Amino acid sequence: MQNTNTCKLCGKHFANNEMSDEHYPAKSTGNNDIVRINLIKIVDMFQSGAMEKRVLEGLSTGKTFKEVSDEIFDRDLAEPLYPAGRTARTLCRDCNTFLGKYDEAYLKFFNADGEAKAIKGFQRNTKIQIIKSIFGKFLSVPEAADEQFDFIPFLRDKELDIYNGKWHLYFVKRDLSTDLLGLAEIETGKDQYDEGVVYELTDDKFIFDLMNFEKHECFEMNDIFGILDKDYQLITGVGNDGGYHAGMVIGRMLEQMADPNNLYEGVDENRDLQRRKDE
Ligand SMILES: [Zn+2]
Repeated sequence: MQNTNTCKLCGKHFANNEMSDEHYPAKSTGNNDIVRINLIKIVDMFQSGAMEKRVLEGLSTGKTFKEVSDEIFDRDLAEPLYPAGRTARTLCRDCNTFLGKYDEAYLKFFNADGEAKAIKGFQRNTKIQIIKSIFGKFLSVPEAADEQFDFIPFLRDKELDIYNGKWHLYFVKRDLSTDLLGLAEIETGKDQYDEGVVYELTDDKFIFDLMNFEKHECFEMNDIFGILDKDYQLITGVGNDGGYHAGMVIGRMLEQMADPNNLYEGVDENRDLQRRKDE
């Protein structure tokens, strides 16, 4: 068979045109017109004082801080990456429709900002669907393409509300501690620890980490199954140590630095300094 794809949920083979383009994260959670933030340039603008100058100039013309930072973001820091949203051809049409039901539940969670007061009012079944929606999105995360997830039966069975596999799914709500200047970068990532692997998926409001070990105690995050509990409390931000998310951001920054297309004057200067130190 030529041009066949394996659906990540049902495991059957399909021709290319029988597959669907799955949005990860869901389209309605910020996944349209995705940009890449030039992390190197942000650091450079801060170090060179250009950021401060631009902000002060903007404020002096009567603009608000938000207007000025949005302007800097649009003009200098954001590069178009996925204008129509980020998708992967990972699911057949039937499975896409099937998981779409879970995504509707997730949208309720998203629109309620994950706030405990609202979530506690959801029916248990809705909460289970929210959990399954997020697990399901990791099937389309490119960094996890070769992973054999054991939660497929949990996702495929609408009635099943228990998962006892090896994967743990944690999340936090984004805030200024997760996003430099409040710039929420909707990215995916992968990080390797001594204990195992961490995959990350983010949307406009939340950061999700899927890992095959129990999270380090020092990183405060919600276990996704915690939304079922009466005493569920939403955790916001990643604290001073940055959690797993900081590792992902730093990893991307290093990747950008290693990419010759992303070299800027400031970085060149820093490299020269480094070289001089090494000599
Ligand atoms: Zn399928």
